[in-house]
Amino acid sequence: MKKILHVSSECYPAAKAGGMGDVVGALPIYLPSYDIEASVVIPKYDLKWFKTQKFKKVHKGSFAMDNAKQNFEVHKLEKDTLGFPFFCIHLPGLFDRQSIYLADDGHGFKDEPKRNIAFQTAVLEWLIVAKEKFELLHLHDHMTGLIPFFMQMGKRYKELKSTPSVFTIHNGSYRGEFNWDQCLSLLPEFDSAHAGLLDWDGKINSLAAAIKCAWSINTVSPSYMQELINVSDTLEPLYKKESYKCSGILNGIDSNSWDPKNDIYLSAHLKDGKWKKFKSNHKEYLQDRYALSSKKPMIGFIGRFAHQKGADMLMDALKICFKNKMKFNAVILGSGDKALEEAALKLSEEYPKKVGAEIAYNEQVARHIYAGSDFLIMPSRFEPCGLNQLYAMRYGSIPIASHVGGLKDTVFDFTDDGQGIVIQDLSINEIVLAIERAIVLYKEKKRFSQLRESISALDYSWDNSARLYSELYLNHIN
Ligand code: ADP
Repeated sequence: MKKILHVSSECYPAAKAGGMGDVVGALPIYLPSYDIEASVVIPKYDLKWFKTQKFKKVHKGSFAMDNAKQNFEVHKLEKDTLGFPFFCIHLPGLFDRQSIYLADDGHGFKDEPKRNIAFQTAVLEWLIVAKEKFELLHLHDHMTGLIPFFMQMGKRYKELKSTPSVFTIHNGSYRGEFNWDQCLSLLPEFDSAHAGLLDWDGKINSLAAAIKCAWSINTVSPSYMQELINVSDTLEPLYKKESYKCSGILNGIDSNSWDPKNDIYLSAHLKDGKWKKFKSNHKEYLQDRYALSSKKPMIGFIGRFAHQKGADMLMDALKICFKNKMKFNAVILGSGDKALEEAALKLSEEYPKKVGAEIAYNEQVARHIYAGSDFLIMPSRFEPCGLNQLYAMRYGSIPIASHVGGLKDTVFDFTDDGQGIVIQDLSINEIVLAIERAIVLYKEKKRFSQLRESISALDYSWDNSARLYSELYLNHIN
């Protein structure tokens, strides 16, 4: 088996803030079928999961950073409970916190540049002495974007020069941009004649550096790759120049973990294909949890309250719907932008029997919403892949989705024999119209239940995507 290493800041179930965590926790499980053994390394956080596991120390090291010595340790999970070898890097003072990215004020940690650079340096320092030899590194998003540059140009990492790197863009709007004068002293030593490879518009730009230096680049859906090449806030010429090594590979879902027949988070399971019973059980759970009226279509929303996800437009659209006395219930689970958190709670106070709002990140509640809602709405302004629509389909919840990125690749309108309701040109009005269409569809009982059952049977498992990744790796490994 060829051995590769995933380097990431998230990996489900150890640490997850979004889709990237799901991908890094699932893809390695499916790669051995294609003769690839994939290990994972992430930072060691002070999160609950880490406290429940046993690790052994496999390396101890240090490096110079900002004229000081930074110690680190590499720990390995003793038993392969995740289905792949799992390593984490303990960086005292930097990652031993109870949150992955956000401080208590809801904003990113102020020492983000130092944390990101320290994690990447520790990975490189470990790799040059590690017993384990990896034939390729698979890197995820800007938090690991400097690694391909340092594998090429880092003075201490010359033996990694011939190791191929694959870089996956899960979200191209986060770039890891740092000022040169603040961050130069944090970086490991490198050949300064090539400093331009780190730079975009006068700043260190981790994403741009990865696009320039990694051997292959991919996004998590084909359409998102095209969108970035056409519109990506000043990076367009770079994407165009490097397009020869760019591709899009749609994410899969871990169909063992996300299985209505066995999901460990659910209180009741799908038995003998009885979808009606499965859905009504969980719908009742949601009605009770949020004190909502019964016998109405239920529309769920799960996601970060960020501009990307369109939760702001959704809130405005829901207000219009309820003012117009449209008959449905909505359940909203998410957190992020404080104004939107307040808007969601206010909406649930204004329409207590119609709207349930929960400001939290809660895997169990999320899974009950996939299982209990009739529709799942995703009014995203852009969406690199979107996993929610795939989970929704598997749990018999019909997606109502905007026509961007991975949503464009996975949700076609039911009137064209597709899987859901497409919001073609996203606006508040179009969201209202899409909800109206959902209510009409819900009343057409036979058509509604046929669509529900047909989307639940679609295969979005990792097998196909894992094969595409293995082909990408094998292009580089001899
Ligand atoms: P993102 O842009 O956030 O990565 P994705 O659609 O790729 O979006 O993945 C989102 C993942 O995060 C899904 O597994 C979804 O269920 C989960 N998720 C998002 N918000 C929440 C939340 N508030 N509570 C629980 N899970 C959430």
